[in-house]
Amino acid sequence: MFIQVALPVPLPRLFSYLPIENAPLPPIGARVLVPFGQGKQVGVVVKLSEECDVPANKLKPLISVLDEQSLLSKPLWKLANTAARYYFTPLGMVLPQLLPVKLRKGESAAPTPQKYWQLTDQGKQTDPNSLKRAAQQARVVAQLQRTPLLADSDVNLLELSRPALKALTEKELISAIDKQPQLGTDWPTQWQSDDHIPTLNKEQAVAVSAINNSEGFNCFLLDGVTGSGKTEVYLTIMDKLLRQGQSILVLVPEIGLTPQTISRFRQRFPLPMEVLHSGVNDNQRLASWQHARAGGAAIVLGTRSALFTDMPKLGMIIIDEEHDSSFKQQEGFRYHGRDLAVMRAQLQSIPIILGSATPALETLANVKRGRYRHLKLNKRAGAGRPVKQLLQDIRTCYLDAGMSPAMIERMKTHLKAGNQVMLFLNRRGFAPALLCHECGHLHECNNCDAFYTVHQGANMVQCHHCGSMRGIPRQCPDCGSTQLFTRGVGTEQLEQALTRLFPDYPAVRIDRDSTSRKGSLDAKLEQIRKGEVKILVGTQMLAKGHHFPDVTFVGLLDVDSALFSADFRAAERLAQLYVQVSGRAGRASKPGEVMLQTHQPEHPLLHQLMASGYAGFADDALTERSQAQLPPFWQLALLRAESTYAEQAKGFILQAKSLLPDNEVQMIGPMPSPLERKAGKYRFQALILAPTRPILQTTLEPWLQQLQQLESGRKCRWNLERDPQDL
Ligand code: ADP
Ligand code: ZN
Ligand code: ZN
Repeated sequence: MFIQVALPVPLPRLFSYLPIENAPLPPIGARVLVPFGQGKQVGVVVKLSEECDVPANKLKPLISVLDEQSLLSKPLWKLANTAARYYFTPLGMVLPQLLPVKLRKGESAAPTPQKYWQLTDQGKQTDPNSLKRAAQQARVVAQLQRTPLLADSDVNLLELSRPALKALTEKELISAIDKQPQLGTDWPTQWQSDDHIPTLNKEQAVAVSAINNSEGFNCFLLDGVTGSGKTEVYLTIMDKLLRQGQSILVLVPEIGLTPQTISRFRQRFPLPMEVLHSGVNDNQRLASWQHARAGGAAIVLGTRSALFTDMPKLGMIIIDEEHDSSFKQQEGFRYHGRDLAVMRAQLQSIPIILGSATPALETLANVKRGRYRHLKLNKRAGAGRPVKQLLQDIRTCYLDAGMSPAMIERMKTHLKAGNQVMLFLNRRGFAPALLCHECGHLHECNNCDAFYTVHQGANMVQCHHCGSMRGIPRQCPDCGSTQLFTRGVGTEQLEQALTRLFPDYPAVRIDRDSTSRKGSLDAKLEQIRKGEVKILVGTQMLAKGHHFPDVTFVGLLDVDSALFSADFRAAERLAQLYVQVSGRAGRASKPGEVMLQTHQPEHPLLHQLMASGYAGFADDALTERSQAQLPPFWQLALLRAESTYAEQAKGFILQAKSLLPDNEVQMIGPMPSPLERKAGKYRFQALILAPTRPILQTTLEPWLQQLQQLESGRKCRWNLERDPQDL
């Protein structure tokens, strides 16, 4: 027998090994440790075969078998195979994505003891009220009286204080124990509902019954503006399924997984829930994976990769903000989490809900083709009102840190009324360029075709493409002049200007720079919620998913770049951003205003958006995409190559193009990537378009095999991405 193993290397084949002598054969789906090159690799057994095209004396035996059983359930095994094929990615690169990091590294998959907190006998008799002067300790005791065995992993989730735990341990009121987690226990299917559940409005009720009455696989688009009560719809449907003993997978964008989201689910369902996001450590991830796989998790709430969580009783998948770009993995196995989740639902014959106020054009096209069902929530739940839209022409207008006098005026009015205002600028740093006033020299990164961004606070210039940094130059390298000026405005400069213009209204900035420290984003969001700050400045980090009921004015400083981008998705993204940020204004009972500054006040996209909203925009955009033979109508893949020498990268793509069969598949390129030189490498790309999925699939599969053999392909780094999001 030969054992065919998938290994995490970018080669589209399996690797053959001999069994270990006198040991049982490994089951399919189990991990094995194998010799590979000079070292060892952890792989997954894909096949046992009696034949092998490599002579047996050239093969090596496995080093060890790591699992007694397959680590993947049937549906996930199928999903991995379907995904590998769809994304033209070797199975060996796909499979590790389905496993927690510890298992990828070869550690044991057996459940490990976890730390739990419990009350001591003395603690059980303590009235939390007697700890009044130590409020945090009182919360812990009260919590433990409700949940007698509290997993340490839930401490952060419930925002309990670590110092309080320590103090209570010292007082011998609580103690920590190590215990095997209870795997696979059934959760209760009866519980007391929260009293604060709102009665659904008509649109919500229609959506709920459409989904509840469906059978098997169905994909629903829940299309409703922010605050229209989509989450309430999810919760109502979840309630029903959970009471039937089915489990639910909920995927949200990275930025949407806030303590508020988590506690909303927790409060509604007193059931075991696993939360998975980038901040969860490897131990915890493994424990969550084990718990879910054993059937012990009623709910799994997580970001993109949580989609691969094995859940035996999975009854439904929900994807909130399905249009969000964070569902796309941008390196290695470049999959789209939403699309794979739909594939998974289909493989498991269960319903899936895609929720958004601004659905992706892909999703809307699926609705139009009759593949997905469209459920609309047109009214804002509760007391929200539509916002007033203002288009501000800034041609010939004096701008102060990017703000027109009209914008400053509107801000003043809203601030004076006691409200918060939010300004949006998708450019972090102080200024996007440093210019010599005497000779016009612009400071460029040495490794990329890009200008340095000035970061005044850090006293550095930084390239936002390769990350290289240095001190802010004092002299021009070309002419020696010391007259260096910044050009353009970034969020850091905007924040400074606001402090000058509105000294009485504290401002906070939310972007990648100001939130890089752990916990700082949460702290800032908390300041906003408490009303301690009045002006919010940020990049698109600020645009997503947060509830700020006191924000009544939203300003977009610079949207023009998106109107003229080479990326055909730029318009869609601008429209989504605009609708999402407008949704931030006036969510509660206060009327909101949104102002958009532009040098292109006549631009049809802007007018379309303001006049007929996202739906009107999407209709036009879909017509345009169809005429231009672009996604979602045509199938798209992107071939990229990079090399220290431009000719090598370009040459490879040219050769690849010459090998493409003469059929309906078109290849456009090679052309330089939007950033032709990055981190010292020249980058080229080509678009590959096909009228249908099968044509793309059957044309590119054999073609890729040929590319693997090309000598020119070894001289550069290249990859093929299906459904690329950024061009
Ligand atoms: P979305 O997910 O679409 O942004 P949510 O479900 O979060 O909307 O609802 C927004 C707010 O409106 C929440 O505070 C929610 O509790 C409230 N809400 C939702 N549905 C109703 C309803 N039918 N009646 C009253 N309030 C509602
Ligand atoms: Zn100069
Ligand atoms: Zn650079």
